[in-house]
Amino acid sequence: MNTSELIYWLSPGDQDELFRRADAVRRQYMGEGVLLRGIVEFSNYCDKTCQYCGLQHANAGLKRFRMTREEIIESVAEVAAHQIKTVVLQSGEDPALDPKWLAEIISLITTRFDMAITLSVGERPRADYELWKKAGADRYLLKIETTNPALYEKIHPGMSLENRLRCLRELKELGYQTGSGMIIGLPGQTLADIAHDIEYFRDENFDMIGIGPFIPHPETSLAGQPAGDPELTIRAIALTRLETKNTNLPGTTALGSLGKDYRLDALKAGANVLMPNFTANGYKNLYDLYPNRRCVNEQRGECVGCMEKKVALVGRTLDFSRGNRNV
Ligand code: SAH
Ligand code: SF4
Repeated sequence: MNTSELIYWLSPGDQDELFRRADAVRRQYMGEGVLLRGIVEFSNYCDKTCQYCGLQHANAGLKRFRMTREEIIESVAEVAAHQIKTVVLQSGEDPALDPKWLAEIISLITTRFDMAITLSVGERPRADYELWKKAGADRYLLKIETTNPALYEKIHPGMSLENRLRCLRELKELGYQTGSGMIIGLPGQTLADIAHDIEYFRDENFDMIGIGPFIPHPETSLAGQPAGDPELTIRAIALTRLETKNTNLPGTTALGSLGKDYRLDALKAGANVLMPNFTANGYKNLYDLYPNRRCVNEQRGECVGCMEKKVALVGRTLDFSRGNRNV
């Protein structure tokens, strides 16, 4: 599709037709299974300035935590106990993160568990990415958030789109299965911006693309802004499915956190991944990216049974394989 066709389908209108087509492409390329990625949020320290995010450095009121190596391994063991074969180790951009410490944890996981490892710890020097790849990490998740340079720089003061692009390029060069993604409904974002993001995803051939709605956090400069539209978010997911064919597309947690569980609608419109949270209770509520996150009070692992029932409602099953990209 060209930009104006993408904008046409992003606009409110005949979305049932769009969703039906995206669902057919999902079925053809990805099958009926819904892949699971267990997420462990191991630190909420962050020295970045992303204006939408509750973990940003300026949020001085947030109590910060950093798990120990033992706590991380214990959480990964919970993921393994639920037969899930991908763990996503995520954190804020913790200035005290010692790359060697994380490399040791990666090696430990690869020796103890049958588990693919996805990292999501932000913009780092190439040497760190290389160290972690050698230690056994398989994948890396770093959302571009928006490809519009002016908007990017407005909502990330002091940061640069160029550096983010540098990171994504290096991750690919180092052989990571690389994931990106965007936030829908950032203040000032247009449908043309979203269309360009989808074109970027298509051109870059990412292995995973996370697309979620903006949810305003009360302790940020964007507190008074409206949340992103979940329907528009699902249209963007559907178009990304049509344009990329076989990338992994999650029904994101943010999409499940706007009252109704829109993740199921996403599964019917091209999505094929869910990400149950395995951060220990007590830390999970401190990983405060945005308010009213889904399943913050549930016990770890409870989400898997719940997801099984939910995906059955839309005629699907959970897939417990590693779920490497079938390129
Ligand atoms: N620090 C790492 C990983 C943690 S943040 C990083 O930034 O890559 C993970 C994702 O949370 C971000 O990519 C962003 O898209 C999302 N996020 C943060 N605050 C949000 C908000 N208020 N609404 C919607 N998504 C948000
Ligand atoms: Fe930090 Fe990531 Fe939040 Fe940005 S999005 S403030 S890097 S945790």
